[in-house]
Amino acid sequence: MTEIIQLDEEILDGAPTINLSRRGLVCGLAAGTVFPFVVSGCTTNPYTGEQELNLYGEAQIAEMAATAWSDLKSGTPQSSNPELRNTVLRTWNRIEKATPKAGEQWDVAVFDTDDVNAFVMPGNRVGVYRGIVDLAENDDQLSAVLGHEVGHAVYRHAGRRMTRATIAQTALVAGQVAVVASDELRQYGDLIVGLGGAAVQFGVVLPYSRQSELEADRAGVDYMYQAGYDVRQSVRLWELMDAQGSGSRPPEFMSTHPEPARRAAELTNYINAKGYALI
Ligand SMILES: [Zn+2]
Repeated sequence: MTEIIQLDEEILDGAPTINLSRRGLVCGLAAGTVFPFVVSGCTTNPYTGEQELNLYGEAQIAEMAATAWSDLKSGTPQSSNPELRNTVLRTWNRIEKATPKAGEQWDVAVFDTDDVNAFVMPGNRVGVYRGIVDLAENDDQLSAVLGHEVGHAVYRHAGRRMTRATIAQTALVAGQVAVVASDELRQYGDLIVGLGGAAVQFGVVLPYSRQSELEADRAGVDYMYQAGYDVRQSVRLWELMDAQGSGSRPPEFMSTHPEPARRAAELTNYINAKGYALI
């Protein structure tokens, strides 16, 4: 029996024939009926209090990302410019205190390349490139970038994405049978472990879903507000991204974080609705 299940926007490259639906990946009744085995992956996110489907423990994915992180740090020049580093670190220190992950151990790297980009990796690792610091007109805008990245970590988006990737792979190997009994999952335990390298790719390289990006945007604005930054500058940042994107070389942050104009509009609505400011 082959069952094709609808997915939202998160279709995985190389896995075109099995589409995993959010409905199938939500904890609880739907997960129990569509993917019986995924019930075992339902956990409570300690930062949000929400139930989520995550087959990977945080420590496990942090370990998986360790090599990718050290490779990146050794293969990319880090900035020794004290002014640039100070800008990033003072903004980081202020916004981090306003997040649910305040006081945790973080590794923040400032890379000395033109890339207009920033990212977070499992294990509280944040990378910021000179290009995006240069684009930002002030600390408020930079805090929007950093808050957004912490938002991804708070919502454990990497684990969520890797979970989907793993289930997609498992379902494919199972002969495109999307309904997998819990006993059968055990047979694929080794496969999931063997996916480690690929899973890191899914966890680090693939873009997040639009839903995850919006979640991180909103979280970032919450942290900006808590930290006393001007939340309106988050919208301005996306306008700058949009303007830059009309040039010859689109900024990377935008290519992995699409639809800047729409996101600026969504952020504006959110900021107004929360009463943080009137835009
Ligand atoms: Zn993002």
